[in-house]
Amino acid sequence: MLAEREILEDKQVMEEFFQQLHDGDLATYGFEATRENLVMGSVNRLLISEDLRKEVVTYECSEGHEERELVDSESGTPVHTCSRCREDVESGEREDAIEHLMEIAGQRGTETVFVSTDFEKGEQLLNAFGGVAGLLRYSTNV
Ligand SMILES: [Zn+2]
Repeated sequence: MLAEREILEDKQVMEEFFQQLHDGDLATYGFEATRENLVMGSVNRLLISEDLRKEVVTYECSEGHEERELVDSESGTPVHTCSRCREDVESGEREDAIEHLMEIAGQRGTETVFVSTDFEKGEQLLNAFGGVAGLLRYSTNV
């Protein structure tokens, strides 16, 4: 019974996401855009696919430019080329992508919803939207 009720909630939140995506301006998706909105405090609900198995590496070049890459949990840390000064950065701080996002969400009073992949739109969140999305409090154009 509990599982069924949770799926219903997941379905409702994904319906709301698609509605905003098509007819509104209160949806964001993908790791970077969602993260940027989270940092701004504009995310009301953070949607994370419960099957997301990614880690985020934060690189900092010698010029102090901070950039991130998402990697599969099983794979090694790739060399990152800074997009601003083209410097190769060999390594960076690596952590679980979900924990990374939830920490920011916690600081901004954003509710996190874990979305099952046991229904079509839940699967789409993982496969078409990078497993991460957000419903916004206000439009940000990010
Ligand atoms: Zn740089």
